[in-house]
Amino acid sequence: MQGDSYAGYRSKLVEAVRLKGVQDLAVLHAIAEVPRHLFVPRALAGQAYEDTSLPIGSGQTISQPSTHARAIEALRLSGRERVLEVGTGSGYQTALLARCAEQVFTVERVAALAEQARSALARAGITNVSILVGDGTLGWRAYAPFDAILIAAASPSVPQPLIEQLAPGGRILVPLGDRASQRLTLVTVGPEGACTYAPLAEATFVPLRGTHGFDD
Ligand code: SAH
Repeated sequence: MQGDSYAGYRSKLVEAVRLKGVQDLAVLHAIAEVPRHLFVPRALAGQAYEDTSLPIGSGQTISQPSTHARAIEALRLSGRERVLEVGTGSGYQTALLARCAEQVFTVERVAALAEQARSALARAGITNVSILVGDGTLGWRAYAPFDAILIAAASPSVPQPLIEQLAPGGRILVPLGDRASQRLTLVTVGPEGACTYAPLAEATFVPLRGTHGFDD
């Protein structure tokens, strides 16, 4: 990790996230450790430790830390999982996941964002992440199956390739809904492929594009 005049701000952010109901210690610890200022545009670094979403370029946004924390908490990671993330964006959520799981595979369709994320992750000293530029609705078959899948963009439904690439007992966290509003939903898949949906919270994400997303 970078040496660090921001550690005090991060402790306050941990408190803010805890007050919003997040209890998973690994997730809170990840927020205390990951230097979010490296993942936002330099001009916004002063706001990096507020619990707010911020623009990251290419028309995309980095979500509120408490939203990231709630989503990762819902995946109930033990630290031993292989996780697929769809929508790398800034790479901040990727970094949190990397601290809570064994290996993270992340797919981003915008090459410029993937590049920025790659360099921020390197500066943050995070090495257990692989990044692919492409359509994440198709998953990343070469590295399947995944114990958990986190979709970081609003989806009309769960993309079928992701259901196929989930390990037995795995779970998918996805903001399900239309372009205007969604519900963060935990999806589990039974042995016959039937999905069970547990809605967790209202949410507003940028749309998932691509083959199994909204039309471009
Ligand atoms: N969690 C991210 C925010 C992601 S915003 C962060 O912490 O910064 C959603 C991201 O999903 C955007 O970067 C967008 O480009 C990407 N995206 C949208 N559709 C996609 C697709 N089909 N495959 C991969 N990435 C996609």
